Amino acid sequence: MDGYDYLIVGAGLFGSVFAREATDAGQKVLVIDKRSHTGGNIYCEKVAGINVHKYGAHIFHTSNQVVWDYVNRYVSFNHYVNSPVANFRGKLYNLPFNMNTFYQLWGVTTPEEARAKIEEERAEFRDTEPTNLEEQALFLGGRTLYETLIKGYTEKQWGRPATQIPSFIIKRLPFRFTFDNNYFNDRYQGIPIGGYNALTEALLDNVEVRTGINYFDDRQHWNDQAKRVLYTGKIDEFFDCELGTLEYRSLHFETEVLDRANFQGNAVINYTDKDVPFTRILEHKHFEFGTQDKTVITREYPHEFSKDNEPYYPINDDANNALFEQYRSLANSREYAQKFILGGRLADYKYYDMDDTIEAALALCAKELPAAGA
Ligand code: UDP
Repeated sequence: MDGYDYLIVGAGLFGSVFAREATDAGQKVLVIDKRSHTGGNIYCEKVAGINVHKYGAHIFHTSNQVVWDYVNRYVSFNHYVNSPVANFRGKLYNLPFNMNTFYQLWGVTTPEEARAKIEEERAEFRDTEPTNLEEQALFLGGRTLYETLIKGYTEKQWGRPATQIPSFIIKRLPFRFTFDNNYFNDRYQGIPIGGYNALTEALLDNVEVRTGINYFDDRQHWNDQAKRVLYTGKIDEFFDCELGTLEYRSLHFETEVLDRANFQGNAVINYTDKDVPFTRILEHKHFEFGTQDKTVITREYPHEFSKDNEPYYPINDDANNALFEQYRSLANSREYAQKFILGGRLADYKYYDMDDTIEAALALCAKELPAAGA
């Protein structure tokens, strides 16, 4: 039939950026998504007048000027700075690891004292070459910091011992000797004014979108609609898991509306003790400096991934990465590459932040859209 130039499977951030660029380049685009809404995991639901991050907290942060300029064409950002607090057995600590944290852990008041204390704490680990997250954390900050703020959280989050988790995950967190509670080192940060849905709606403005449609219910039919197909779902599912199944970590959210204005005084409080079953509590209004009479909180529970829940985090260990590479070779083979493009967090099997997703989508546009004659 070839009615469309592109069928885009998945109306998340990756698919939406591609849809915007392809449409602006004069291509005829159809976007389908199995959910009842667009936006993928950045979608927010209004509850009691508050934007609730339905698929987990999303805080936009980037140092990529191109990405920042790009999103600012569609929305403006507020001045939210993520400064999560950790609760370990009732005592509070600032995150990421900084002078406030070191003061709370050890009573040290100067960078010099903090460095000396950390050197003492990590003395027995500093000559090792870290090969996993536990070793990396001990190497960085020693045992007290690891056991108070990292071990319990990490093992709940990933559902496995920290010795079986790749060290790159902990390298996401800054470690600094200033009194700076900003969770990110990036140059730009904030939440879209009007919420994330405003971004998605702007990206998909004038784009034909059909929600509530599962591509896999009739692949042939959907493939026949377009010359090219951009698939943004799980790569193993695209190939009917013929080489094996990629592992993910899922989450379960319990959301409550509370009849009070302020529950915890911060958007994010992490619970780092392994005996608390959730990893964090979000209080959504604080992402947007909300002044509503009520508040909405979400407890986030890590969960085994299965067919009945969402694949939030790829498990990027060696075995899964090797399987992913096999799938990627298949996707790159002539048979598939002529018609199909795979991209986004699930198809790339990567722990993408939103700016990574947009960067990857724009890179695809640069490659794909001129080739399409646009
Ligand atoms: N982490 C931790 N303690 C915390 C917060 C994070 O040990 O209080 C570790 C944990 O291993 C986690 C990783 O840092 O998986 C990355 O955390 P981040 O907040 O970047 O994860 P996300 O927000 O993507 O879930």
